[in-house]
Amino acid sequence: MYQETINFIRSVYNSPEGNLYLHEPRFIGNEKAYLIDAIDSTFVSSVGAYVNRFEEMMVEITGAKYAIAVVNGTAALHIGLKLVGVEQGDEVLSQPLTFIATANAISYEKAIPHFVDVDEDTLGMSPEALQKRLSDVAEMRDGQCFNKETGNRIAACVPMHTFGLALRIDEIVEICNQYNIPVVEDAAESLGSYYKEKHTGTFGHVSTFSFNGNKTVTSGGGGAIVTNDEALAKRAKHITTTAKIPHRWEFAHSEIAYNYRMPNLNAALACAQLEQLNEYIENKRETAKMYHAFFDNQKGIQSIKELKDCRSNYWLNAIRLPSESDRNAFLEFSNDNGVMTRPIWRLMNELSMFKDCPKGDLTISKKLETTIINIPSSVRV
Ligand SMILES: *Cc1c(COP(=O)(O)O)cnc(C)c1O
Repeated sequence: MYQETINFIRSVYNSPEGNLYLHEPRFIGNEKAYLIDAIDSTFVSSVGAYVNRFEEMMVEITGAKYAIAVVNGTAALHIGLKLVGVEQGDEVLSQPLTFIATANAISYEKAIPHFVDVDEDTLGMSPEALQKRLSDVAEMRDGQCFNKETGNRIAACVPMHTFGLALRIDEIVEICNQYNIPVVEDAAESLGSYYKEKHTGTFGHVSTFSFNGNKTVTSGGGGAIVTNDEALAKRAKHITTTAKIPHRWEFAHSEIAYNYRMPNLNAALACAQLEQLNEYIENKRETAKMYHAFFDNQKGIQSIKELKDCRSNYWLNAIRLPSESDRNAFLEFSNDNGVMTRPIWRLMNELSMFKDCPKGDLTISKKLETTIINIPSSVRV
């Protein structure tokens, strides 16, 4: 019964046979030229012209004041949490429905994820669920927010723009402001996505992007921290470059810090890819439009769409099946037929590491977990 759907997905990619992957990188611009240039310059490591250029391009694309290039999106999140002051034993509000990196980064600081439900349309953190959870458990002490059930400080909130769909970030930030909770926006999947005319990743105190091989554009591996706060930007640069005190020849460091700087080789690839970002996104939005038109006429399968007034990069297209058994049948049929599809992530609170973490009511996340599937979303050539 899913044959028609599989035929349609293949027709979108002009791929009548063979394996059709979920998301393949494309290198059709200046990638090779810039990589060779970086090698010829001998600056292949963590200092180089492409690293600086990459940061300038990220400032231009997002409209944020500062961008700091780092080794990957997980490291960006780790540093983002440190920048807003997350410490051991703190709780960090997060989504159960996210990639593991979000919960891992919180754990690197020995902080504890505190899960809040998502919205059914955006698949991202729900303002209603956040408001409800905070009014249930939050207590202000000396201007800081504490969880009165656990006694822990609630030190940050990390909403995530799932698959490039913008979540209701202005409402999330407004609620967090009421409780004096800084927001670290996980925009790993949403480069080029806008919430009401403003680029995702420019609403929080700090935000983070990923340039992993499966993301909208890639540097092989890479990440970026973005902020409008000059002091935070300076600190981000300092602690991602071993906290070395600038000097022409002396090696002295001001604190224990990290070697998280993006190498120039990766930045060269990133610059070439960012030059094509708009083209990629036009292409991906066109793909999404074809999918939406098809699934709007299909009984039982629903495609996930951007909110009105928002603009998604449609990094990964997602569809929703009526039930878990339909979902399983679709996964099996499509993968058996060479069309790669995969279920959305297992909920973080169901993984053994995070099963005892504090959480609100997660009904929507649970429903989505068993019914959402990602379908092929590469840039069409
Ligand atoms: C990709 C991704 C990251 C970062 O991943 P890296 O592979 O470390 O670059 C973080 N959060 C989310 C939601 C992601 O999808």
